[in-house]
Amino acid sequence: NLPVVAIVGRPNVGKSTLFNRLVGKKLALVDDRPGVTRDRREGDASLIGLEFRIIDTAGFETDDAETLPGRMRAQTQAAVRESDVALFMVDARAGVTPLDEQVANWLRGEDTPIILVANKAEGKATESSVMEAYSLGLGDPIPLSAEHGEGLVDLFEALRPHI
Ligand code: GDP
Ligand code: MG
Repeated sequence: NLPVVAIVGRPNVGKSTLFNRLVGKKLALVDDRPGVTRDRREGDASLIGLEFRIIDTAGFETDDAETLPGRMRAQTQAAVRESDVALFMVDARAGVTPLDEQVANWLRGEDTPIILVANKAEGKATESSVMEAYSLGLGDPIPLSAEHGEGLVDLFEALRPHI
């Protein structure tokens, strides 16, 4: 039985892009429109020889801003509770949003270890946004670029103690 890792976070931060990179197949739909992926996806991931089952949380697509947080919360909690460790992804270009803070509050109540990752961190312009993610109170953010494959060694080092 492989250890299980969930990727959680608000829509459009790059969860499916990281999932695709780690699974190595285009299993998760990626789209420029926020929240296009319909269902939760799972796949067998490999990161520098570390093997695990990975869950891409999705299904947040809705035009109804009032129901989004409730649906996100249910899916986020379900995935995190099944996982040995969870990656909480934020967008280093957008900075911390109120929805990120909401997700952080849900995660604080869970027993699963959380690794904070600041995605879209390619290039130097994002450094202050990466720092801003400290304010979420979930430890040191790991700068990552899922799209460009940067920060994967640091991600490996962060995951290894948990799986
Ligand atoms: P999800 O909703 O969290 O699953 O996000 P997606 O993986 O669907 O990505 C949302 C958007 O962010 C897409 O346009 C991606 O191409 C883009 N994206 C993902 N990772 C990166 C990254 O590392 N850098 C940049 N600049 N864009 C990214
Ligand atoms: Mg997605």
